[in-house]
Amino acid sequence: MEIKKGIAVSPGISIAKSLIIDSEDYRIPRREIKPSQRLRETQRIRNAFRDAIEELTQLEAQQNQAEGGKIKDIFAVHLRFLRDRSLRKKITDLIHLELVTAEYAVSTVLREIAAHFSSVKDSYISERAADIYDIERRLLRQLLGKRREEVENLSEELVIIARELSPTQTASFDKKFVKGIATDAGGRTSHTAIVARSLGIPAVVALEDLTEIVHGGDTVIIDGNRGIVIVNPDDGTIRQYEKYSHEFAELEHKLDAIREKPAVTRDGTKITVLGNIEFPDEAELIVQKGGEGIGLYRTEFLYLSSPTEPTEQQHYEAYAETVRVLQNKPVVIRTFDLGADKHTQSKRFAPEPNPFLGLRSIRFCLQNLMMFKTQLHAILRASLLGNVKIMFPLITNHQELMQAKMILRDVMEDLDDESIPYNRNIEVGIMIETPSAALTASTLARDAAFFSIGTNDLIQYTLAVDRGNELVSTLYSATDPAVLRLIRTVIQDAHKAQIGVGVCGEMASEPDYVMLLLGLGVRTISITPPMIPEIKQIIRSVTIEDCNDVARKVLSMNSERQISNFLRNAARKILPEAF
Ligand code: PEP
Ligand code: MG
Repeated sequence: MEIKKGIAVSPGISIAKSLIIDSEDYRIPRREIKPSQRLRETQRIRNAFRDAIEELTQLEAQQNQAEGGKIKDIFAVHLRFLRDRSLRKKITDLIHLELVTAEYAVSTVLREIAAHFSSVKDSYISERAADIYDIERRLLRQLLGKRREEVENLSEELVIIARELSPTQTASFDKKFVKGIATDAGGRTSHTAIVARSLGIPAVVALEDLTEIVHGGDTVIIDGNRGIVIVNPDDGTIRQYEKYSHEFAELEHKLDAIREKPAVTRDGTKITVLGNIEFPDEAELIVQKGGEGIGLYRTEFLYLSSPTEPTEQQHYEAYAETVRVLQNKPVVIRTFDLGADKHTQSKRFAPEPNPFLGLRSIRFCLQNLMMFKTQLHAILRASLLGNVKIMFPLITNHQELMQAKMILRDVMEDLDDESIPYNRNIEVGIMIETPSAALTASTLARDAAFFSIGTNDLIQYTLAVDRGNELVSTLYSATDPAVLRLIRTVIQDAHKAQIGVGVCGEMASEPDYVMLLLGLGVRTISITPPMIPEIKQIIRSVTIEDCNDVARKVLSMNSERQISNFLRNAARKILPEAF
């Protein structure tokens, strides 16, 4: 039994056999197999070679001799190498003798050959090492690609273990069979974590070397409440966890009972509790959990879950479905926020050296007007079906907001020309996700109907900490005094300008921070749907006076550690059973 501690990102407990998804971008860890699995692994090798040869043959045939003679020669060399029977034999021998996975055997044998080539003095030969690495990656892509297909067609319950997962991969998991997720990489507000939480799959990230410890088929406990993963637990631990899991389910059930009750503090202040979604089918959960609308619809997942760009009609159908479920409750549709860690499947974005500081979000929209206008057209059409609002992400300055609004006006004119009706008075708000936006909130408030503070990005840009990087995850904190001062500024400026202000980052879904946010003046939050009952319960247990007192004390503190300890203790007093 081995116990690993990471970051809890999605609550719940799961106990199941593991399935490991390796990545060709990272070293494949040595992982042993049972003797009975040897045949299966060698069969996988045969298939991977067959498919890689087929792929290369096609690529070679597509090269025109005149233009691509050199490339054709490279493909020919790779093909000769792959057809060499002694290479395949070396790999399968390793599987048989050392009982290792197909991926590990491919990687080890090819890297040995590459190292041998590199050590030769002749530069022509030493440069061939790059070709060997290329062949290694091609074979690994075949092996891992098949594994990913397996994940899409599961027939038994299991937990997924990976170095890292993309938000798209996570979103494609079948909740019926994927009972838990644990990754080496990631942070609390990485989009993969957010998707796991929305799907209600228990997850722990930032486990550093978990993939090197677990073998496929090992029993694994994922404790998404405490951030613990236990590999091959003993019988006593399994029993203890089964009991704990049962108790946790009971608590959730008890909390669900408050869904009909309003989110009002003990001294009568009404708080609006909305939910965040990535897909239209999550809208129903918000209603079930007692949410009062959608405060953040991450529409980029429409692009992430489809191999082609969604058409205007597909946009419209997704929004119409969502709005119908919510009836007349508000639905804040955030225009697509692609880039950084969210790429379309066709990877249409060229890799960028600093993707979080690059062409992401509204910047991407403003450079790809056709795509942007297609979405705005659909949102406007859907605006007549209910209470739809538009929200622009990652606005960093006033000019950007004016540009985005100008595009929206252009689309409105197009709709007028086409005689298509829409809500002319649709509210247009923005996310405050960068220090520059927070510090110029008073200017932005002139042209925004509301603000929604995206703390996930605001923290990363204020503290210069990548939200998905486990190496710096301890530096990522909502309670850093710099972050809190920016949040306070935004709220004060919104109040002065008399526009709405809410928080839709993960900070608002954390029981520890509810009192602080209310004390800072927040009256609207948009949170991950499974947390709605718990957060509502906390709201119903406090008075605004208590919250103001908490906020006053916190703002007088200078240390992140002191603030988070103080808030944790305050929250524990309010709802002890949640801890
Ligand atoms: C945020 O940044 O806080 C936010 C809500 O947007 P996302 O998590 O999608 O980047
Ligand atoms: Mg964001």
